[in-house]
Amino acid sequence: MLLLRTRADIVAKHIGSVIEEFPTPHAMATTDLSAVERALRPFGLRWRARRIHETARVLTNAFSGQVPLNLELLLELPGVGPYVASATLATLTGGRVVLTDTNTVRVAKRVAGLSVRGDARRRKDVQAAIASLMGGQTTAADWLAVIDLAATVCVLRDPRCADCPIKGLCRHGIADSGRLSQSNTVGGRHSGRLPA
Ligand code: SF4
Repeated sequence: MLLLRTRADIVAKHIGSVIEEFPTPHAMATTDLSAVERALRPFGLRWRARRIHETARVLTNAFSGQVPLNLELLLELPGVGPYVASATLATLTGGRVVLTDTNTVRVAKRVAGLSVRGDARRRKDVQAAIASLMGGQTTAADWLAVIDLAATVCVLRDPRCADCPIKGLCRHGIADSGRLSQSNTVGGRHSGRLPA
């Protein structure tokens, strides 16, 4: 939940002190909201503290302080949508899931040459395309590899296709290398941007 709209390096930097202060859902649930807001301030999005506090209370009161290992039950928690529920299940159980967030959608669109505009995360056809590219449902480690690729190489602007380990499988990467070699031979200018 903290990774939503907050950079991974910021979460990595501050998560240790949050876990130290609130080692269990019960520890957070029995604390004032103001203390949770203070602890989560480095992550931004103040409204999120209320949601996470409420989630801790539900986990404590309805699930004996345990995270349920069931997709439907996870989706009943405040602020938990399909992505967080699937990521939680994959991480805690090693189960196979399909994760669609802005990062995996961006990589999939480029790899498969999908022309989808706007927020495509909840579209069934996009989810099916991502699952197909990954060979069906897959583990948290595989998805983390895609998310790492998206954060470091297949970035939003100017993806670094020349350094990408999957450029030979990617429609955008193949087109990009074609544009690059053309610019090298005819003196054209290579922008590295996605085609509109
Ligand atoms: S080749 Fe380029 S567009 Fe394709 S996945 Fe790699 S970085 Fe992204």
